Amino acid sequence: MPELLVVKNLKKYFPVRRKFLKAVDNVSFSLEQGETLGLVGESGSGKSTLGRSILRLIEPDDGEIIFDGVDIRKLRGEELRQRRRFMQIIFQDPLASLNPMMTIGQNIEDPLIIHNIGTKEERRRAVEELLEIVGLGREVIDAFPHEFSGGQQQRVGIARALALNPKFIVADEPVSSLDVSIQAQIVSLLYELKRRFKISYLFISHDLAVVRYLSDKVAVMYLGAIVEMAPKEELYQNPLHPYTRALLASVP
Ligand code: ADP
Ligand code: MG
Repeated sequence: MPELLVVKNLKKYFPVRRKFLKAVDNVSFSLEQGETLGLVGESGSGKSTLGRSILRLIEPDDGEIIFDGVDIRKLRGEELRQRRRFMQIIFQDPLASLNPMMTIGQNIEDPLIIHNIGTKEERRRAVEELLEIVGLGREVIDAFPHEFSGGQQQRVGIARALALNPKFIVADEPVSSLDVSIQAQIVSLLYELKRRFKISYLFISHDLAVVRYLSDKVAVMYLGAIVEMAPKEELYQNPLHPYTRALLASVP
């Protein structure tokens, strides 16, 4: 099967006090379509910087990001925009991607308008379908984000991310701010989407237990580098790196 995403020797350094902080230090991995990489590591290890660099929300310093056969680091302007519609992101705080002044329906329709997709009527139907897919139901279409709980807001964020039929989603700690029972519901929803639409995730979490369910393979990040990466069960059953062992020991 051809790879959906190949990341090669990706680097992002931040200048800090006349030195460079290696936030992402020579990271390489690949994903087939429908495959999910769980990315774990303590706070500050570089997970978000890696996720954002892959989407070029942050400009990487070096390396390759080959998505669907094209190195998106070489793309600019409209070409990059067209390619990027298939790569989306979900944030820890769903409100980061939602406009508080727009209704739920408008928030989800927004990417379709930006990309000039469908008639008004077609977009309305697409939004209603997306609301059903994420388990909110079409009757919430005219509500506003602040009327919703954190878990419901995250469902809206997911619907918005899904609007352009992405193949790859960076999920950056998408359940970290939610109650444990709600966390399980959102992870189940992401799993269902992966099964139904063959979406690949880079699923970021500081919690090894959370990534276990959704991931096919797991990478452990430490000081900007991936120190261990293995198929899921292998990593949980036979962790090789001392830092992975320490992380596993802290799972309750
Ligand atoms: P994580 O998501 O694993 O918690 P981050 O990717 O947010 O880690 O951060 C990795 C490192 O890069 C941290 O040391 C952080 O302080 C630093 N960092 C992140 N963004 C910036 C920035 N814009 N400027 C300088 N340093 C940054
Ligand atoms: Mg982070």
